[in-house]
Amino acid sequence: MSKRGIRRFIILAALATLFLAVSTAVHAEDTTGDLTETISYTLDDSGNLTIQGTGEIPDYAQYAHYTNPGPSPFRENSAVKSVTIGEGITRVGAHAFYNCDNLRTVSLCKGLKSIGIYGFYSCDTLETINFPAGLEEIGYDAFEGCKALSSAALPNGLKTIGSGAFCECALKQIVIPDSVRELMEYAFEACNQLKTAKLPRGLKEIPDGLFSRCEKLKTISIPEHVETIGPEAFVQCSDLKSVTMPAGLKKIGESAFAACISLEAVTFQGNAPEIGPSAFMLDTLTAYYPQRNTTWKGDVIDTGYGGRVKWVGVCSHAAGAAVTENRKEATVFAAGSYQTVTYCRYCKKELSRRTVSIAKLRPTIKLSAQKKKLKTGKTYKLKVSGLARGDSVKSFKSSKKSVASVSKKGKIKALKKGKAVITVTLNSGKTAKCKITVK
Ligand SMILES: [Zn+2]
Repeated sequence: MSKRGIRRFIILAALATLFLAVSTAVHAEDTTGDLTETISYTLDDSGNLTIQGTGEIPDYAQYAHYTNPGPSPFRENSAVKSVTIGEGITRVGAHAFYNCDNLRTVSLCKGLKSIGIYGFYSCDTLETINFPAGLEEIGYDAFEGCKALSSAALPNGLKTIGSGAFCECALKQIVIPDSVRELMEYAFEACNQLKTAKLPRGLKEIPDGLFSRCEKLKTISIPEHVETIGPEAFVQCSDLKSVTMPAGLKKIGESAFAACISLEAVTFQGNAPEIGPSAFMLDTLTAYYPQRNTTWKGDVIDTGYGGRVKWVGVCSHAAGAAVTENRKEATVFAAGSYQTVTYCRYCKKELSRRTVSIAKLRPTIKLSAQKKKLKTGKTYKLKVSGLARGDSVKSFKSSKKSVASVSKKGKIKALKKGKAVITVTLNSGKTAKCKITVK
């Protein structure tokens, strides 16, 4: 056999072995076993792993050669394609599904409280996970390196997200529920598909490296109670364009926004925080600060913190007294409105404008007399007053023109003995009557 022939033979042999290995896996018998006295599992020949029982799946060792505890039976098990964890199980133990690199679907039971450290570490083909309501804890590195994991809705009630929990995942967006009390460092590091993230409303500290190297993160709203932004929190978020700091911010850690090469504007409010070295390293941005606040002076705004920072003092705006503008009175035909406006008492910038409507007016009318006695041949001018805005007289009419006539302007003429009623009609539709007795 020639050298080339030998090589070809070796390759074919390798392929045949691979084929055998694959077909062996596919046609394997169901595998069953116990994880604890109360938890058992079945892995069928299609790769569906079902875990049933009550209690906690134990914590397993990170390394295959460890003995007490030893590694999970599912560790690096390519035969596992789906995992169903049945009701009654309260915890996925540490390293339980460590690097199951064919795992595609995971169904977690309700009642599950906790996912241990490295629980699903580096499950490369896992694309989505639905966490049950009631889950309280996701351990550190639990989903680290799940490179296809693009969707994970975190349940309300979740309390802890361990460090590195979703590091290097393909998450496109993440909403961290307000219930989370412990948000640990680097939890979403290098999620390089992440475009939007929402932080818990009551958060006080953005932990170290939380979104470091999230290169597609476009916007971030920093919750109003945040006092500290940890070191490297947003390092290398190269798509991030602008950030507004909350008024109570006290500290920005070292390299917090380093290498955010798209960062154009950082807006500060309140007192000057302590800004760590290299906080804006490699950045070119404009930083806006409240110019009347005296904590912003000297060294604070003389440095770029590692980047090229142009400091611009801006008015921090305080509302002056409200004024009324654009008043349009209501009429009997249409509602009116006005606007309540506030302007900054320093720079006069308009800060708020609110339109208030005025209800359409009710028609009103008053006649100079409601009844009148006249002698034949006499006249009387019926005067109309008290009309609401927009209204006017449409007509005067006599119920008996032979007794009393009335002109277009309300001049009544007594013609012969008898009674007549003069009706005044307004354009709004309202009417009023005057009874005439001619003697
Ligand atoms: Zn102002």
